[in-house]
Amino acid sequence: MGKGFFQVPKAINEPIKSYAPGSPERALVLEQYKAYYNDQIDIPMYIGPDEVRTGNTKPMSPPHDHQHIVGTYHTATKKNIQDAIDNCLTAREEWARVSWEQRASIFLKAADLIAGPYRSKINAATMIAQSKNIHQAEIDAACELIDFLRFNVEYMSQIYAEQPASAAGIWNRVEYRPLEGFVYAITPFNFTAIAGNLPASAALMGNVVVWKPSDSQIFSAKVIVDIFKEAGIPDGVINVVYGDPVMITDTVLASPDFAGIHFTGSTHVFKSLWKQIGTNIDTYKTYPRIVGETGGKDFILAHPTANTKQVATAISRGAFEFQGQKCSAASRVYLPKSTSKQILDLVKADIDSFNKPGSPEDMSNFITAVIHEGSFDKLAKYIDQAKKDTQAEIVAGGNYDKTKGYFIEPTVIVTTDPKYTTMETELFGPVVTVYIYDDAEWSKTLELIDTTSEYALTGAVLSKDRYAIEEATKALQNCAGNFYINDKPTGAVVGQQPFGGARASGTNDKAGSAQNLLRWVSPRLIKETFVTPENYRYPFLG
Ligand code: NAD
Repeated sequence: MGKGFFQVPKAINEPIKSYAPGSPERALVLEQYKAYYNDQIDIPMYIGPDEVRTGNTKPMSPPHDHQHIVGTYHTATKKNIQDAIDNCLTAREEWARVSWEQRASIFLKAADLIAGPYRSKINAATMIAQSKNIHQAEIDAACELIDFLRFNVEYMSQIYAEQPASAAGIWNRVEYRPLEGFVYAITPFNFTAIAGNLPASAALMGNVVVWKPSDSQIFSAKVIVDIFKEAGIPDGVINVVYGDPVMITDTVLASPDFAGIHFTGSTHVFKSLWKQIGTNIDTYKTYPRIVGETGGKDFILAHPTANTKQVATAISRGAFEFQGQKCSAASRVYLPKSTSKQILDLVKADIDSFNKPGSPEDMSNFITAVIHEGSFDKLAKYIDQAKKDTQAEIVAGGNYDKTKGYFIEPTVIVTTDPKYTTMETELFGPVVTVYIYDDAEWSKTLELIDTTSEYALTGAVLSKDRYAIEEATKALQNCAGNFYINDKPTGAVVGQQPFGGARASGTNDKAGSAQNLLRWVSPRLIKETFVTPENYRYPFLG
């Protein structure tokens, strides 16, 4: 702290732009999209002050046009990773010492750069890299990342203000030191905001970071790097590397200075990281912080009293937006027999009204491509299996085509087996499975939901009956870290619905909250005594 108790600007959620026909933002983002699409970018790694090009490159293609190449990125050698760690440790001394308000300024500036001059760039890059339609790109890459950056600054100032009481004659104070070492951030493909937030939240609290983005997101990660550089993050504070995740992780986790992991991605990868950290525990100077937000098998449960249009809309949006590739996407649905036909007819009508899956450049497309061939093939396999299985019936969609892009039709499977494989397994695509329960079996269905999946990320209950809502809220208390009443289970907003789940869905450290930032500090308590005793004898000794 310098010479004042500074108050940070009050964080407010970034307003979402409409991109309606004729709007200036629509023209700007489409112009930027074309410019990126027709260019060839060569993306280096960023290690200390250097842009590192190994010459060992990989191409980048939009999922909706996989033969079109928009650039290449350079992949790391083991030595590059060691250099990234060394640069972290060199940068750490000054970064850990700098006043918090300087760090706050950098990240507030980054937020304003995204809100202004970089908005169309980060959105267009996300449309190309992850095949998001413009609304999905705007709420993620622009608004959510801005919100993470602004709210985290506010939470940081609240954490620093949290101080212990002091009895007469002493002064207790806590300083929130960054971790002694470096943080390893591993980010998923599906949210540009998460990619930016995982390294940024640790760096904001004074840490230095090795950041490994997903191969499928490097095109939009590059825009994040440009923004962080323009905002003034010093060299070496966030080092960005790409390539073989196993080699990179083995090298990083072998370092004695590894102090924490900030991961978002699939459950099996996180479990393997946790194991590896456990195996290496004697290597480390401190106990590493392990923060991971992972998979989900998110549910929608409709009570017989629920409004059928509201349930159908929760399914159409919750299961199919961004092709079901949100960790919070609804993928198992429980409908009462009495209203199931009406709800499914409404969902089918919604799906019929979507255009065929296509490019996000055509803004009439609600559904675009899934992220890569591996994902496409996996989804196609489950759809084919459902076509064969007697306990499953595809009632909408069920077609797919990867000739030009990785396009999967929004698909609804109805199953008679509540433990059918697609009721339990995270598919991460536009495929939702519905189980129809007897209206009289409401309470039993709650138990079924609780015991069907290893995950506990998001879930939604829709009902007009307040007793039923209360029963579901209690019975499902361990089924979801984010629980929605009369809403879809997606669309958490930073500052309003801190996000994360338990069980196999993660450590539930709630991205976009003070709880998460507390994982990146190691508090030091300082007790100062004003009149220090000079005699050991207490009065009882006489
Ligand atoms: P993924 O697990 O395939 O990849 C995530 C990251 O881990 C990538 O950077 C990848 O390169 C890296 N990785 C892969 N194998 C690795 C290994 N062996 N060692 C170290 N790193 C490795 O996940 P994805 O496909 O990018 O993202 C989708 C998954 O993320 C889904 O399971 C989804 O539910 C989850 N997710 C969860 C949340 C949440 O908040 N709970 C948010 C977004 C995504």
